[in-house]
Amino acid sequence: MARVEFRNVRKEFQDQSKENFTAVAGSDFVINDKEFVVFVGPSGCGKTTSLRMIAGLEHQTSGDILIGDRVVNKLHPKDRDIAMVFQDYALYPHMTIRDNLSFGLKNLKKPKAYIDQKVKEAAAILDMEPMLGRKPRELSGGQRQRVALGRAIVRDPQVFLFDEPLSNLDAKLRVQMRVELSELHKRLGATIVYVTHDQVEAMTLGERIVVMNRGVIQQIANPTELYARPQNMFVAGFIGSPPMNFIDASVESGRLVVEGGSFELPAATLEALSPYAGRKLILGIRPEDIHGDDYAPGLESSPHRMTAHIQVVEHLGSENLLYFHIGGRLVTAKVHPETKAYAGLDKPFIFDLRKIHFFDPETEMRIE
Ligand code: ATP
Repeated sequence: MARVEFRNVRKEFQDQSKENFTAVAGSDFVINDKEFVVFVGPSGCGKTTSLRMIAGLEHQTSGDILIGDRVVNKLHPKDRDIAMVFQDYALYPHMTIRDNLSFGLKNLKKPKAYIDQKVKEAAAILDMEPMLGRKPRELSGGQRQRVALGRAIVRDPQVFLFDEPLSNLDAKLRVQMRVELSELHKRLGATIVYVTHDQVEAMTLGERIVVMNRGVIQQIANPTELYARPQNMFVAGFIGSPPMNFIDASVESGRLVVEGGSFELPAATLEALSPYAGRKLILGIRPEDIHGDDYAPGLESSPHRMTAHIQVVEHLGSENLLYFHIGGRLVTAKVHPETKAYAGLDKPFIFDLRKIHFFDPETEMRIE
């Protein structure tokens, strides 16, 4: 069983002035056998450190790490039965692709027939047979990345660890490799832990996603839940593009009041918000849940309307982004391109109140 577990794992580094710096602040999670889990978060949030601790390239300051049923705290990387794929591929430039693929197994003193078989299988899985005689410089970036994957596959590890493996590829190739990685996961039936700072990559690849910020896990959930029920403002703002809008609001006489307008709320929502009567709260609404009143399929008769002064329009082809202010905060609406809009227009917008979120302005946590 190739599960990975962190039990209250902390990692502190000492900086040059010998001050302790907490890179990972007590992580707890279980990655299940055959699961594809993505660690995502901004630069410096501790995701690579977490991955390196699974690999044994970094040792935790405290806590336990388990791979399968074994506590691996003191185990050398080579004894952990993992394979890591790095961002820079780390191929040997003077060796052929075949030799790059066999190198690790030769070091492990595996028999030649076994190595040949494994290389053949990996090359078939990755569609690389015609390239085995070439050197890395004779391959494209995407093909090199595939060789790096192949080198992990031949080792038949319990767990694959990926550290931003697509970040050196151009945008088009990244999309293609993303699809290949998802297919590869299904074919190999392996446990995969994948690090990226790119939330689109996280959402498209991860069966579950661990969102981190400043060394602290913010939420662990599948993509749908992360998008629909972010637990705090950090997750709400990090997942989704353009990010969720946050608008200062309050509840008065059964209505949700924002600068320049108010909306009637359903009884259940009012009930949930009752502790906030007379207090400020933050309304969260995604750009795709604000529609122009002239193009809002299914919401034409919605009473939840508010007029705003459009400041900027960005045409993206398949959609337009409209920018305006509510209560001093910049708000983005992602609307259908047929929506009538130009800078300077006072336009009625329809807010899809079925898809709104509320957050406590002090704790920044979701209000149920
Ligand atoms: P990035 O996307 O930029 O790689 P990350 O989320 O992967 O970011 P980590 O590499 O895990 O972040 O680093 C977490 C924090 O720990 C950062 O502030 C980093 O500067 C610090 N850190 C990482 N390695 C060391 C080290 N060897 N010595 C001191 N500090 C370190």
